[in-house]
Amino acid sequence: MSDRKPYVGGNWKMNTNRTTSAELTRGVVDALRSTTTVDVAVFPPFPYLLAVKSILRDRGSAVKLGAQDVYHKPDGAFTGEVSTDMLKDCGVQVVLCGHSERRHVLGETDDLINAKVRATLEAGLECILCVGETLDQREAGHTDPVNQRQVRSGLADVTGDMLERVVIAYEPVWAIGTGKNASATDAQDVHAKIRRLLTQLYNADVAQRTRIIYGGSLKPANAKELLAQPDIDGGLVGGASLKATDFSGIVQAC
Ligand code: PEP
Repeated sequence: MSDRKPYVGGNWKMNTNRTTSAELTRGVVDALRSTTTVDVAVFPPFPYLLAVKSILRDRGSAVKLGAQDVYHKPDGAFTGEVSTDMLKDCGVQVVLCGHSERRHVLGETDDLINAKVRATLEAGLECILCVGETLDQREAGHTDPVNQRQVRSGLADVTGDMLERVVIAYEPVWAIGTGKNASATDAQDVHAKIRRLLTQLYNADVAQRTRIIYGGSLKPANAKELLAQPDIDGGLVGGASLKATDFSGIVQAC
């Protein structure tokens, strides 16, 4: 790990209910009370954003409130969608864009993801841009071109100044929710290549400052080795973020 401040996000996906989301928030806040050296965010389902925010606020927590998705249009006839202004109104500070489940289950395209990234940043919010190859793509030797394409297109028309509010999450699709994590060496290799691409797209200084985090079956038992890699600046955590002790164990591994 470098001098970039580590970043750990907990993506609760379509899990929890009104009671358990509140319990989980309190558990995370209590477990991380003395942690100031890591940026931490939680991503509850939309219906629980306000309640989670009020717990974070009441407890004076530095844990950021995140949204799992956003729509890029400001308002109008987009049934079921949620705008950046609505998220800000609920106290959201950071938005996930391009999560693999949105790409591969809900069919989001690179262009739509870029529109969401730009809308998020133009609204003054932070963005975690998720990229990652499928198992077929990895086995066909396409890991690097896939990740490079997703980073390039996700960041199209994003300036170097805006990139200050972007974290890139490398999440190999075959590792998400499967219990199989990428090896530390393989993940480091992809992260280093993404950082090299950022040098080409922006410059070395911007690339060195940008946090690139790993996601895919992270747990306390494998976090230390992955997070010790020089280009891995934290993690995006799914399953293990639903248990406050596991999630805080990963934060502490940073
Ligand atoms: C994720 O949803 O971003 C994720 C990494 O999930 P899991 O940790 O469960 O693999």
